[in-house]
Amino acid sequence: MFDTENFQQQVISWQQSHGRNQLPWQQSTGELADAAYRVLVSELMLQQTQVATVIPYFQRWLEAFPDINTLASADEDEVMRLWQGLGYYARARNLHKAAKYLAELPEFPASLAELLQVPGVGRYTAGAIMSFAFDQYGPIVDGNVRRLYCRYFAIAGVPHSTALEKQLWQKAHQLTPTSQSRRFSQGLLDLGATVCKARQPLCEQCPLAADCQALLQNRVSDFPNAKAKKAVPSKAGSFLWISQGDAILLQKRPSPGIWGALWCLPQVADDSPLLAGAKLHGEFSHQFTHYKLNAQIWQISAEQYDVNLRQAAPEIWAKPTELAMLGLPAPLKIYLGAKLQP
Ligand code: SF4
Repeated sequence: MFDTENFQQQVISWQQSHGRNQLPWQQSTGELADAAYRVLVSELMLQQTQVATVIPYFQRWLEAFPDINTLASADEDEVMRLWQGLGYYARARNLHKAAKYLAELPEFPASLAELLQVPGVGRYTAGAIMSFAFDQYGPIVDGNVRRLYCRYFAIAGVPHSTALEKQLWQKAHQLTPTSQSRRFSQGLLDLGATVCKARQPLCEQCPLAADCQALLQNRVSDFPNAKAKKAVPSKAGSFLWISQGDAILLQKRPSPGIWGALWCLPQVADDSPLLAGAKLHGEFSHQFTHYKLNAQIWQISAEQYDVNLRQAAPEIWAKPTELAMLGLPAPLKIYLGAKLQP
């Protein structure tokens, strides 16, 4: 019979001696609301993003928005500017929405059910806040935990399928302790990130090696099952370069949507009459999760733009010195940086 307590103890002891305990979001003022806010911000930043990349963003964020109320009352442009470069901008909008929701509450929600009501908070983030901020029962399954459980229990299944996710979350609910949940959950993440790594796991250093089913069966590389590779499609995108003196016209992207709420060159349909006779100004490519964008930038005059179809989105004339203050998509920022250099 599986010894749950032994498993918990192995993870907890290993975390104590080998885990990561100095991450900036682990250092709070000691107030529960502060700890919960730090975990909320860091967990949203860490989705799809490495710890090392997140650390400077997290530090800048906490300087600008030290608590829920500051973030809730912040201007959307400022929020998007500070997120600029981290990608997956829906996370920034969700975090802003979550702060507005939380600022209306008398205190930070402290149960899984209440946390799941917060906009943008799914069961992983809810479990992470319960564990890391409150040190209470908070089951988590993320990429690191998924890989570790799949190997340790030799669980096969189509990656991210409902059946596999259900099985993994059941494990998480069964294995998460009601005390020392913080150390246990952190231990799982740390083990997944530093020992049970996606490539070349360090099984000889793993505290779980004695009972790891994948290792015992000599099938570590079989788990988790590989994703079926899909060809990533490409899409074209036509953008307008319209300048006046040294200022460039930027338009706010609709939200939600790709680059939602960020400032961008106006985008038009690839067969827009505006492009007839327009001069190609330049090109850039950007890889999104589901497709590759091949952007072409077409130069037209402000007069041409005025007499033709103009969208209702907010627009500004931005000078090169003002660009740093605006939230821009990362590839556009690079493009503008190269083109607007004196
Ligand atoms: S023994 Fe190896 S495969 Fe098994 S959990 Fe540890 S690092 Fe992962």
